[in-house]
Amino acid sequence: MIEFLMNMDIKSYFILIFAAIIIVFIMLSICRITTNKYVIKNRQELFDEARPLSDKCAKTGIRLLDELQTFRKYIHELGLYQTYSCSSSIEANAANNPIKYLIKYSNIKYDENSLEKIDYCIKWSRLYRQNITDMTTLTNNIRNNLPPFIKLFTSRKKLSYNVCNISYDLAKFEDPVFIFSYVSTAGKSGRSVEIYITPAVLLSIRSEVYAKFNKQAHSKTQRATMTNDLREAIKKRDNYTCCICGNSIYKEPNLLLEVDHIIPISKGGKTEASNLQTLCWRCNRAKSNKM
Ligand SMILES: [Zn+2]
Repeated sequence: MIEFLMNMDIKSYFILIFAAIIIVFIMLSICRITTNKYVIKNRQELFDEARPLSDKCAKTGIRLLDELQTFRKYIHELGLYQTYSCSSSIEANAANNPIKYLIKYSNIKYDENSLEKIDYCIKWSRLYRQNITDMTTLTNNIRNNLPPFIKLFTSRKKLSYNVCNISYDLAKFEDPVFIFSYVSTAGKSGRSVEIYITPAVLLSIRSEVYAKFNKQAHSKTQRATMTNDLREAIKKRDNYTCCICGNSIYKEPNLLLEVDHIIPISKGGKTEASNLQTLCWRCNRAKSNKM
């Protein structure tokens, strides 16, 4: 045998090595197929042995697959999955302040509709991560119950998916990514910032949107509360006298009196008697100029 190997030319060596690789590859494939068949054949048994975790993984997996379409639809509608061609300065700013620039250059609005979609995506994304962790634990649990030969050759990646009877497509999910891409006019140079839409990023977006949405909703409500009757009542309460300069309609019959929010609505002030005062128009202008 050794003599035979020594007498071979270089070409034959390569053929021999190549053939050996092919044989090993075929044998491994056969082992894979055999072990896969074993897992599928004993699926129910392996599933039952790994309960209750297998139950949880199967249910969550089905739900995640069901809701994946909606998740993708919302991400698309929010404009969070795209490559945005921009100037060099936007690209640089986006790198320093990703959340602000994501909101500015996506389709996100400061309204309930956007908030609901963001919430949905956060929930899905978090559940997906939890499921990945559970699936890994489940894989280890199942492997402990496998015969040594099967354990050696079975595919680690697909094992828990096969046992739970969930499409392996779920494992191929990747976080959406928003890319700020700058390419110079000559097209010779370019840079880009990639922002992965993880639950943490979605949460930061959510709190920004929520804060501004709340502020807008607050302003709207407080402005609507300000009625003519209330205005008249405050003036009467203050005896038709300016709370700053003391001028009144008794001293100046044509004096224009206005009702002012002591803490402005924009700073969180409410339209209620304790936050309202009568001012003459001059003092009111002076006050708003100062703010
Ligand atoms: Zn005044």
